[in-house]
Amino acid sequence: MANFKKRFTADAYAEGILQGDRIMLSRAITLVESALREDALLSEQVLEKVMHATGKSLRIGITGVPGVGKSTFIEAFGTYLTGLGKKLAVLAIDPSSQRSQGSILGDKTRMEELSHNPAAYIRPSATGSSLGGVTTKTRESMLLCEAAGFDIIFIETVGVGQSETAVHGMVDFFLLLMLAGAGDELQGIKKGIMEMADAIVINKADGDNIQLASNAKIAYENALHLFPPSDSGWYPKVLTASALKNEGLTHLWELILNFEKHMKARGQFEKNRNEQNLKWMKETIRHQLEKLFYDADAVKRVLAAKETEVIERKVPANVAARQLLDLFF
Ligand code: GDP
Repeated sequence: MANFKKRFTADAYAEGILQGDRIMLSRAITLVESALREDALLSEQVLEKVMHATGKSLRIGITGVPGVGKSTFIEAFGTYLTGLGKKLAVLAIDPSSQRSQGSILGDKTRMEELSHNPAAYIRPSATGSSLGGVTTKTRESMLLCEAAGFDIIFIETVGVGQSETAVHGMVDFFLLLMLAGAGDELQGIKKGIMEMADAIVINKADGDNIQLASNAKIAYENALHLFPPSDSGWYPKVLTASALKNEGLTHLWELILNFEKHMKARGQFEKNRNEQNLKWMKETIRHQLEKLFYDADAVKRVLAAKETEVIERKVPANVAARQLLDLFF
């Protein structure tokens, strides 16, 4: 919920963002997250004004079930990257969480070190009512962060729902964090999510867990071999790491750079982004049309009655839909 009163002009937001002003960036993201119609128009203007400065960062999606060590990992890897001179922004998507009013990063103890790091910017997720709304806002926030000069964007999501597909649709590199466990190595994470991963990191490869982690690495490598190869010619890799002990981070960064090189050499990097953008446009159109439809008085007046007719099987659902659409048009 946007709890701010003051609005600035689109130029003021844009200038602030382009100068790397964090406060203005935060205000602009709050604007983007606002549910008010006027704010949506203003934020579109801001986005248009900074568009020329977007697209230069590396966008990395990070997912994994709760407890896998995402925040510890983001803290460790984020600190590693800022140590290399990178500027990092961390955004999150978690429409389902009840914690801290829907924010998985709202908890103050998470990413304590990174949140004090001047080269890092952490932004909790929007509390959206629908996944579509949240992910749209995250895309926009990502572009604003790029315009503010961040080299790397992390988009974190909890590996339990459909938000993975949404995140996969807005990043260049998709990383899945997993744990080595006794028994079924693939337990808890859907096959579809594994299929989207460009790399799997088996976290908590430390102490007594080291052997288990190497076993898991082999199991996942075998599992990934069963998936059909992707068009990009990139074969997903499996690594072990310890976020707690800062191990495996250099390896992972090298892997990500190799991935980037591989994708760019084949023109696949740009192709992916182009496809993502076109899909975003189409999704927006679909979203807006649907909203117009349900907001229309002609539809509102008869919708409940039509639903009852469908439930009572007086009218086939497709016929009811056609009748409602006719009313709308
Ligand atoms: P999240 O829910 O995925 O964000 O997971 P957290 O980062 O909150 O971590 C969950 C728990 O696992 C915490 O107690 C962490 O200290 C612990 N943890 C995270 N990474 C590691 C690791 O690499 N090794 C070990 N041994 N514990 C870890």
